[in-house]
Amino acid sequence: MALTNTECSVLAGLLFPDVKETREDLEKRFPERDLGEGACVTRIAPSPTGFVHFGNLFPALTSERLAHQSGGVFYLRIEDTDALREVEGAVEIIINSFKYYGLNFDEGATIDGDFGSYGPYRQSQRAPIYHVFAKELVEKGLAYPCFCSKEELEAIREQQEKQKLLPGYYGEWAKFRDAPLDEVKARVEAGEKWVLRLRSPGKPGGRIRVDDVIKGKLELDENYDDKVLLKSDGIPTYHFAHAVDDHLMRTTHVVRGEEWLSSLPFHVQLFELLGFRMPRYVHIAQLMKLDGVSKRKLSKRHDPEAALSFYEAKGYPADSVREYVMTLLNSNFEEWRAQNPGADIDGFKFTTEKMSSSGSLFDLKKLEDVSKNTVAAFDADKVLSLVLDWSKTHDEELFALLGRDREFSRGIFAIGRGGEKPRKDLASWDEVREYAGFFFDELFSLRDPFPENVSPDDAKAILSGFISGYDPSDDQTAWFSKITDLSVANGFAAKIKEYKKDPSAYKGHVGDVSMVLRVAGTGKRNSPDMYEVMRLLGRDKVAGRVKAALEVL
Ligand code: GLU
Repeated sequence: MALTNTECSVLAGLLFPDVKETREDLEKRFPERDLGEGACVTRIAPSPTGFVHFGNLFPALTSERLAHQSGGVFYLRIEDTDALREVEGAVEIIINSFKYYGLNFDEGATIDGDFGSYGPYRQSQRAPIYHVFAKELVEKGLAYPCFCSKEELEAIREQQEKQKLLPGYYGEWAKFRDAPLDEVKARVEAGEKWVLRLRSPGKPGGRIRVDDVIKGKLELDENYDDKVLLKSDGIPTYHFAHAVDDHLMRTTHVVRGEEWLSSLPFHVQLFELLGFRMPRYVHIAQLMKLDGVSKRKLSKRHDPEAALSFYEAKGYPADSVREYVMTLLNSNFEEWRAQNPGADIDGFKFTTEKMSSSGSLFDLKKLEDVSKNTVAAFDADKVLSLVLDWSKTHDEELFALLGRDREFSRGIFAIGRGGEKPRKDLASWDEVREYAGFFFDELFSLRDPFPENVSPDDAKAILSGFISGYDPSDDQTAWFSKITDLSVANGFAAKIKEYKKDPSAYKGHVGDVSMVLRVAGTGKRNSPDMYEVMRLLGRDKVAGRVKAALEVL
């Protein structure tokens, strides 16, 4: 038999003797936000486990765009109700990771505390708030304490499994659902541990309908389980905290991963029973990865690229990662980017209608391409400053070299940049050492062989001829015509076309001659424009490298 109204009030007082506030007090303390029509209030609500999944960027960017495009509020709530999973310094990791991607919160947890008038924004500091609603549910006969031990619950689970019954704490299995007040009172007064359970009005087999912004109209199994609302230490479960917090913080759109869909019926039920207005739910499809021919979830355990820290460590610029995530989030983004190269990404009109309801495919190769395009649009100063930022913590030697002569370093990144067709060499800053290390004697070495079809004697002749005629003040045309002359003088065709017409008439062509110079000057067969490279290196360095090459040939 369920308790009477009076008994419920007695029970509520017994369980929550310290709760003096009421729902009305809280509603007053956290009033409806005074925002314009259509303004979205969104949040991200990570748990401080020390690990931020790359996939978290998807709800984060979606939430940020929805809020900031509509003149709303984007805030950060820390879901630290599970002390066991919490890791020291994790809140800082979360805040810094999102900041790196330009996700700026209007309110919420910050490293120095909380900012905003809807806090505290850390669930561990909100126990008194949850207890107000917990008490109210008990008063209304919608929640009750359960004294079952772990072992008892385990036994129930085993029985249900054996009898092939639905799992959970419901019906005849819900031992304390209708426990008489006297018994409950005696147990509480004896100091027995209890958890607070919802008195679920749902029935097995019942169905509910929910409209999800991305998934559309859903029909789901109703929650029949008397699920736990407060754990025995008085800390709420995620579900209960979600309902209370998103209500009091006046969230309009709950954007989260689709792994939460299975809890949605419980959440809908909680909002209804608590008399809260339902937020819109925006469940984002999981990030998948192609593994052979099959798709699977991008996994924290198996894929290093699942960690958000992976991108920062490799030095993918935040702009590139945002661009890439946006290409996966909104199917029309790439088209917009093609029409608006160089435009600020926030100029793109993000919409939930263009989001896919099935999993997006993660592709590192695609990220690299996107990043190359993104970096190609940066100016040299921006590249230098980002490379310096990155190398400071990830490549100290490079950092010191680049910092030695900033004008020179800026020159490195200016090569091939800024024109109609900028070079697309760099996707991440960990490639800079390979791309540009040769500019510094400390990192220069003759790594690649000279072209096999040029004999050492010819290579020597080419190098000597080049250096004796080298004038750093030559313009590109003069420079190149000297190389053409040098080719002809040494029996190489001045044009590749001529060589192809009659290969036996030449030792090779102008490309081979340039390659000799390239290897001598950069140590590599692949480098940015040699004319620019040599101008930046300067006469002395070029001469020194040519001399060194002559010695080893
Ligand atoms: N704390 C949950 C998580 O880390 C948040 C889910 C939500 O956004 O509501 O996944």
